[in-house]
Amino acid sequence: MYPKDNTSNWFSGQGNYQHVSPREWNNWVWQLHNRVRTIEELKSRLNLSEEEERGCESAKHKLHFAITPHFFNLIDPDDVNCPIRKQVIPTERETFVAPDEMLDPIGEEHQMPVRGLVHRYPDRVLFLVTNHCGSYCRYCTRSRLVSNAQAYDFHPAFDDAIAYIEKNTCIRDVLISGGDPLLLPNRVLKTLLKRLRAIDHVEFIRVGSRLPVFMPQRITPELCAIFKEVGPIWLSIHVNHPRECTLELKRACRDLSLSHVILANQSVLLQGVNDSVETMRSLCHRLLQMGVRPYYIYQCDLITGSSHFRTPFAKGLEIIEGLRGHTTGYAVPQLVIDLPGGGGKVPVNPQTIKEITENEVFLVNYQKQEFCYPLKPAVRPPKTSEECHVLCR
Ligand SMILES: *Cc1c(COP(=O)(O)O)cnc(C)c1O
Repeated sequence: MYPKDNTSNWFSGQGNYQHVSPREWNNWVWQLHNRVRTIEELKSRLNLSEEEERGCESAKHKLHFAITPHFFNLIDPDDVNCPIRKQVIPTERETFVAPDEMLDPIGEEHQMPVRGLVHRYPDRVLFLVTNHCGSYCRYCTRSRLVSNAQAYDFHPAFDDAIAYIEKNTCIRDVLISGGDPLLLPNRVLKTLLKRLRAIDHVEFIRVGSRLPVFMPQRITPELCAIFKEVGPIWLSIHVNHPRECTLELKRACRDLSLSHVILANQSVLLQGVNDSVETMRSLCHRLLQMGVRPYYIYQCDLITGSSHFRTPFAKGLEIIEGLRGHTTGYAVPQLVIDLPGGGGKVPVNPQTIKEITENEVFLVNYQKQEFCYPLKPAVRPPKTSEECHVLCR
């Protein structure tokens, strides 16, 4: 039996930042301004390994590091294998390039009709509204764009992208991402959401953000009021490890839900972070407790310098097999691979169909038992009155 989880053992509070006043701590601008972004500060707060220090040096020239105090508190300062640490502190391994790795691993650059807008699927677009994030995930698919890695600038007023969406009436779904869209000031975000809502054919507006995880303080009453006004908004957060489910994140999710925001989660499968059935099960159970539906779990994209994060293909399947049927269906995310070359996301599922014949399909359940589902049940009238009785009871 899997042990029950309850929120009494979820992390909460200021951790190693006791000297900071609660007023500052709970202010997201304070969290943003006080991010850990120098090697000196890292060294003062944890035992930085040589490999990490070299990683931090090289990060100056590409994807910067910056860690919010809230998220930093979740790191075990003495454990170089800490699953939180690996996500945000660079290591030298990022400078190693494996064959098949790319700067644009899912082929977005060739599917941008206007700057910042990826139009891959006919009915929906990915709208990249900023190139900044709360903290920088070391396996970021868009590391070529974010943290000013290449001084890439999105159109400040979004006018070209919105004009494109207005013109293309087949677009019914707009996914606002980046960078992290919740870094936009409330005023800008509200204008953007209202302009999209005003487009008749845009039925569905969603936002992808890790700010609730990096700094739940961003989920203020003012932000919630905006979502409520223009809602329903669908929000995908990005939690990879159960330790990231803090009481502060849970509070943020509750406030969002009360503002009619529909919450989902996307995780990236990462070696040494969440590549076990136990970790993923615990994560998905905590997500349900926060009112968040596990949506996707991604095989790590072939982003340059990410080979130390990539799990064997079979690992994802093993995790899904360990979840499906063994826990609540709502707790089971869809495993996907975002194809290189812009092919989009494909679902990857453990094999459940053993054999299909003309008359039956043989299926394997979660306990690996085989069952037969007849495809053409023979139908005939009842032969005896006794049989008729049984059928009509
Ligand atoms: C992921 C993605 C979407 C959304 O895909 P869903 O499967 O609908 O969540 C849309 N456009 C692009 C370019 C994407 O990468």
